[in-house]
Amino acid sequence: MQKDRSAWLNVITTALFPATCLLCNHPGEHTRDLCYHCYQSLPKNTSCCIQCAQAFPIAYPTPMRCGRCQHNQPAFDYTCAPFLYQEPLRYLVTGLKFRKHFTHARLLGQLLAEHIHFTQARPEVLLPIPLHPSRYRARGFNQALEIARTVSKQLHIPLDLYSCTRKKNTSQQTQLSAQQRQQNLKNAFHVAHTFTAQHVAIIDDVMTTGATSHALALVLKKAGVQRVEVWVCARA
Ligand SMILES: [Zn+2]
Ligand SMILES: [Zn+2]
Repeated sequence: MQKDRSAWLNVITTALFPATCLLCNHPGEHTRDLCYHCYQSLPKNTSCCIQCAQAFPIAYPTPMRCGRCQHNQPAFDYTCAPFLYQEPLRYLVTGLKFRKHFTHARLLGQLLAEHIHFTQARPEVLLPIPLHPSRYRARGFNQALEIARTVSKQLHIPLDLYSCTRKKNTSQQTQLSAQQRQQNLKNAFHVAHTFTAQHVAIIDDVMTTGATSHALALVLKKAGVQRVEVWVCARA
C-alpha cells in the first residue's frame, strides 16, 4: 500500500513538475533535471585509481591503484567518483553548497546513484560526512547529507545520521597542503560505540585530497568496520 501510494505520488509529481534541465532549462531526460546534451557535457572520470579515484592521464586496461595509494594506502578501500570537479559539474556542486539550490542535491544524488557499481556486497549503511555542529548552524544544512538522501532512496540503503559526529571544526581546509590537512583532521571524527555495520559507504560532494574521507575511514576501521567505500559526485 505504501509502495502504491509513493508510485502514484511520483506520477502526480512528475506531471505537475516535469523534469527541467538545471543547466539549460530544456526539458530533462526521464525524471532527471538534466537534458541529454548537458548530461553528455559532464566531465566523466572514466580512467582513475580504484582506491582514491584520482584521474589517470591515460586509460589502463585493468583496474589499478595510483602511485600515491600504492605508496601510502588510505584507510578507505574503494572510491566511486563518476565525475571530475570541473564545469559544469562544479556549478551544480557550488550551487548547492553556497547558494542553497537543493534541486542540485537531488540531481547530484541521482547521478551518483546511477554510477554506483557494487564491486562487492552492498554497504549496510550510508554515512554522509558530518559537518561540525557550528558549521552546520552557520550553513543551515549539510550538502553531503542532502545528496545522500537521494542516493539512499534510489539504492534502498539506509542513512545513518547519528553514529558519526565531527568533534573538531576544520573550516580552513582549502588553504592547507595534503599533509597539513591530515594533521588538521586528526581526531576530527567520533563513531558511536554502538556502531555495528561491517560495510559502509561514506558520502560527500567532492573529494579533493581524500584526507577527510581517510580520517573518517580510519575511525570507522578502528570501530571494527571491515570495508569502507567512498562515494562522491566528483574528484578534484
Ligand atoms: Zn540541458
Ligand atoms: Zn589512488
